[in-house]
Amino acid sequence: MSIRVESIRKTFGAFTALEDINLDVARGGLVGLLGPSGSGKTTLLRIIAGLEKPDRGRVFFHDRDVTTLDARRRRVGFVFQQYALFRHLTVADNVAFGLRMLPRAERPPRDAIRARVRELLELVQMDTMAGRYPAQLSGGQKQRVALARALALKPEVLLLDEPFGALDAKVRKELRRWLRHLHEQIDVTSLFVTHDQEEAMEVSDQVVVMSQGRVEQVGSPVEVYEHPASRFVFDFLGHINALEGHYDGTTWRAGDASLRLDTHGACPDGALTLYLRPHEATLSHAPDEHAHLPVKLVARSVFGGTVTLELAPRGWGDQVLEVELDRDTWQALSPGRDDTLYLLPRALQTVTCDGDLGPR
Ligand code: ATP
Repeated sequence: MSIRVESIRKTFGAFTALEDINLDVARGGLVGLLGPSGSGKTTLLRIIAGLEKPDRGRVFFHDRDVTTLDARRRRVGFVFQQYALFRHLTVADNVAFGLRMLPRAERPPRDAIRARVRELLELVQMDTMAGRYPAQLSGGQKQRVALARALALKPEVLLLDEPFGALDAKVRKELRRWLRHLHEQIDVTSLFVTHDQEEAMEVSDQVVVMSQGRVEQVGSPVEVYEHPASRFVFDFLGHINALEGHYDGTTWRAGDASLRLDTHGACPDGALTLYLRPHEATLSHAPDEHAHLPVKLVARSVFGGTVTLELAPRGWGDQVLEVELDRDTWQALSPGRDDTLYLLPRALQTVTCDGDLGPR
């Protein structure tokens, strides 16, 4: 089932939570709604679910206008951050609940319900725990049961609101991979809300980046990361270093530092900020003909195959810069030694005075 959202606006009193939201989700897609707290992700999800009415705009499921259709009639499965399982029911009974509550004419026979529950519990790999109660499950297990329950009524759309938000980092990571895999098997158009960039990038086919009630950009994880449509998206998707300086048409300078650049426009007074992602730079013991950016190593941390170095600019800038380098090559560097190192950016993004991003 494809989903189309047209010109949605939603206010709560004087506060505008969503402004002119347009969105197309292809059938079978797995879409991440990503944005900081308060950006309107949950409100948009609730409007798609039918749990909230927009002030303006329309929601279509395939070509059917469902804007005023009751939530229960939308064939939507919902999973919340807090597992919301019935404590007094076993895992199997939780999953069966929705099927048993159907009006008699629509309710499958008992054996069919039992078979469906078994099938769903196998799908979420919880079949060995069918007789347990929620209190006897871990957070990740509860969330898998919540998913099975959401799928019991064969929804055409699955909506997940921070489904892994309450879990610890390791379990979250496992469940993300698992959700991706599950989605491939069930082929239900799915939207999930997250404020975790890594989660959105890892799980989704499409990412919708939201800020202050607006959609900033829609694209594949690679598109939004490599071609951010606005400064907000660039800032929000991962750590960056902002290097402030001035540009004279050929060379960018800040204090003693200089960097040859072409094709970049600056503000009328020449101010130009360069954005550098930590993995898009390397270091050298000498400057090269294009870049003279002396730095001093102030801290180092190793994680997996990467070493993260914190660098203080020498004679330019007053912030600490961060770069991520290959561990084998760079882990021998130690902080505190007074050697000067030279930063060599590989890819930079410029930001003009009005906040637009320049070419890379
Ligand atoms: P979070 O990640 O913190 O859940 P979010 O991006 O999902 O944030 P929403 O929950 O959609 O954001 O909320 C968007 C804005 O609308 C927030 O400022 C919130 O306070 C406001 N809001 C949401 N629901 C209501 C409501 N029922 N009444 C008043 N304000 C609301």
